[in-house]
Amino acid sequence: MNVVTLSLPWTDDRIAGSLRLPYNAIMEQAMIIEKLEVGPFATNCYIVGSETGGQGMIIDPGDEAGKILIRVEKLGLGINHIVLTHGHLDHIGVLGEVKEATGADVAVHADDVTTLNDRSMSVFLGIPYRPTPAIGRLLEDGDNVSVGGLTFAVIHTPGHTPGGICLFGEGVLFSGDTLFNYGIGRADFPGGNYEQLMDSIRNRLMVLDDDVVIYPGHGPETTIGAERRGNPFLI
Ligand SMILES: [Zn+2]
Ligand SMILES: [Zn+2]
Repeated sequence: MNVVTLSLPWTDDRIAGSLRLPYNAIMEQAMIIEKLEVGPFATNCYIVGSETGGQGMIIDPGDEAGKILIRVEKLGLGINHIVLTHGHLDHIGVLGEVKEATGADVAVHADDVTTLNDRSMSVFLGIPYRPTPAIGRLLEDGDNVSVGGLTFAVIHTPGHTPGGICLFGEGVLFSGDTLFNYGIGRADFPGGNYEQLMDSIRNRLMVLDDDVVIYPGHGPETTIGAERRGNPFLI
């Protein structure tokens, strides 16, 4: 066996440290976040990917499969994952079509499989029920979802639904219907729980840094800091 020994041309930590900086800068992934408002409830579907890796994920394909798939194609991303922040119909309406077109794995929190298959929600929301395709991955709190060098952690935030999650990483938070720009999710749907929702927001989300950008399931972006200071449900 050949053993190759590399001897570095420097031994000074300070110099080595400074040389590490540009290397990290090159390695840093440029992130794509595309927001598409879809369906009668103006659900935010997000396409998230890495510019360099060419890989992406779709969060909450709620409606308008054509619009989502055309954007994916324009971005030139190969979709590895479809992640559902929760199982409500306005977030999963075209899951089957998008899964079929992309060949991506579907990931949802284990506690929201019931929500996914709950036909009563179609009555609540007035959206026709469509059978859910096979779920490839059941998520748990603390799991990671990786997309072309970008990593997002699953934060379980029950309250809007039992298995609602937020995805946190790369300085951003996809908050589903748990937290909105100056609002919070409803807790009066089947499986909802107001105390649990507030506990999730206060103890799982408000512990994040002020400058984390929030991409919610409906409505405009915000930040943890803006919500900490101005969300009427939290102050
Ligand atoms: Zn919802
Ligand atoms: Zn929603």
